[in-house]
Amino acid sequence: MTTELFRDDSYLKTCSATVSGTGERCVFVDRTVFYPLGGGQPGDTGMMSWDGGEARIVDTRYVDGDIGHLVESGADLPPEGTPVDLTIDWDRRYRHMRMHTAMHLLGSILLYPVTGGNISAEKSRLDFDMEDTVDKEAVGEALARLVAEDHAVSCRWITERELDANPELVRTMSVQPPRGKGSIRLLEIDNVDLQPCGGTHLRSTAEVGAVRIGKVEKKGRQNRRVNIHLDD
Ligand SMILES: [Zn+2]
Repeated sequence: MTTELFRDDSYLKTCSATVSGTGERCVFVDRTVFYPLGGGQPGDTGMMSWDGGEARIVDTRYVDGDIGHLVESGADLPPEGTPVDLTIDWDRRYRHMRMHTAMHLLGSILLYPVTGGNISAEKSRLDFDMEDTVDKEAVGEALARLVAEDHAVSCRWITERELDANPELVRTMSVQPPRGKGSIRLLEIDNVDLQPCGGTHLRSTAEVGAVRIGKVEKKGRQNRRVNIHLDD
């Protein structure tokens, strides 16, 4: 299994690794900084290079339970055992991190169950199970305030046993943790949000920067889709 370096440090842009196997247009390595598609966040893109070759990574996804680095069509694949250097497209990923962190802030403002969501570098959306009308201006102001207040963002792992010993933790979470994997990764935005999440986030909410509420769409009687954009 690939060591997921991005889980403990989402700011890592490069790493060295060793090829552990290949599939169809797909390379597996022992450790990676590439985030695989999941939780509404797209898989990373970037470059893989080795002595005598390189390949553009066009997507990253779980393939047969392990992290697959998908190369562009026609690219050479490095054989198993090859030392490689991995570099993500940092500008794109950083926008995903800004969007992802902004999504958590949005979820802390609109306290309704979240039924879906999607993140991209250009635009992101969160679907809420709600009948009420969304006051775009008020939500936009609340979002800007949370960004300006610069709350610290951190991740920690907790075992299910620790969770059971601290039931108040579950009560304070905005989303109930999944069970059965032994440990759970918690994302905490100081004084704002606590919930299980495996994505990549910023260190502090100020880094979200210029964020704006876009269209609010009515998707059925019981569903409001809130779009957000980054203004730079
Ligand atoms: Zn998250």
